[in-house]
Amino acid sequence: MHINQRQLFFNHLAQTSDFPLAIEIDRAEGVYMYGTNGQRYLDLISGIGVSNVGHRHPAVLAAIQQQMDKYLHLMVYGEFVQSPQVRLAEALTQTLNLPQAQTAPYGRINNVYFSNSGTEAIEGALKLAKRFTGRPEVISCFNAYHGATQGALSLSGAEFFKRNFRPLIPGIRQIQHGATADLDMITNKTAAVVIEVVGGEAGVRVPEVAYMQALRKRCTEVGALLILDEIQTGFGRTGTFWAFEPYGIYPDVLVSAKGMGGGMPIGAFMASQEVMSVFKNNPILGHITTFGGHPVSCAASLATLTVIRDQQLEEQANAKGDLIKSLIQHPMVKEIRGKGLMLAAEFDSFEVLKKVIDRCIERGVITDWFLFCDNSMRIAPPLTITEAQIKEGCEIILGVLEVGV
Ligand code: PMP
Repeated sequence: MHINQRQLFFNHLAQTSDFPLAIEIDRAEGVYMYGTNGQRYLDLISGIGVSNVGHRHPAVLAAIQQQMDKYLHLMVYGEFVQSPQVRLAEALTQTLNLPQAQTAPYGRINNVYFSNSGTEAIEGALKLAKRFTGRPEVISCFNAYHGATQGALSLSGAEFFKRNFRPLIPGIRQIQHGATADLDMITNKTAAVVIEVVGGEAGVRVPEVAYMQALRKRCTEVGALLILDEIQTGFGRTGTFWAFEPYGIYPDVLVSAKGMGGGMPIGAFMASQEVMSVFKNNPILGHITTFGGHPVSCAASLATLTVIRDQQLEEQANAKGDLIKSLIQHPMVKEIRGKGLMLAAEFDSFEVLKKVIDRCIERGVITDWFLFCDNSMRIAPPLTITEAQIKEGCEIILGVLEVGV
């Protein structure tokens, strides 16, 4: 008997909107996903911000296979010496061995705490900042997204998403991303500022170098930790391995997830040993997790990191992003902005954009909009996308725009 998977999806999977894409994929490879309907889809959003090295990268699959043959879960986090965790932590901290680390108040980031997801990593980073500084307040940005659990949701810069879940955690204040005048709100009561370098869900907002430097300076002056959320921007997405690198600043805590796992679930928050060591006492076991840093996810992540670095995919992201910017030129596109392969093409309205997105999907190209910017099209393909595949995708988008909506 043929079971209609789509119907079962609607019957039995918790729905988060009345209009899920509900595309059924049979398999995925590289930049393509293959639907059960026979359609081949070009993935221009990396599902979302995850498949930086494409779907099922052979090096990632091999690393998963090798680890599967050794062990899966052994013990809760932080007790046993698990080689995939150790090797990944070492490799991550090597990416953070940058000259600007010397100017960071607590020195170079050399400690990694692994989680299962982005929002969990944010939760851990929040606890770390409160415990390290002993302060009550945290600052985040309007229109920022840091996750859906209660702490991360409290940071969210959109009242619409928070209102019906209150009470959330107290002591959170919002500033405008990129507005130097707001930096005065960071005071000696502030435990941390949590901020994305490039504001993702706000619709890809690239700040000025001077702003990021002023932010760093202010945090240092008042003793607040600078927590950079690189969950979307890290692992080569914006043209450097970490988005903060070209800004000449260095965070106190760095948060990663999404693209980090090469398609496997993993997140991390990273800090210097001095900062991280507060979790050891008062209370002992200040932050614990069962599955954080799962050995298979860590193995996949190390393979992902190695592929990006060896093939210099982060550098390629710049030329590829520029190519997309040059191709997506059309009167219906008001602006195309972004950095590396993290791009947003702005339309007149959500209504227009939604029609364009739907028609692109019919023609086999997956794009999307942003949580807090619904008139802009998300374009963030795997960093492995080729020039020919970029042209193929852009031609389909332009073809849809030519017909008009
Ligand atoms: N921070 C940012 C910047 C994100 O883009 C996301 C996910 N969209 C998160 C945090 C939360 O990550 P996760 O969905 O893995 O919890």
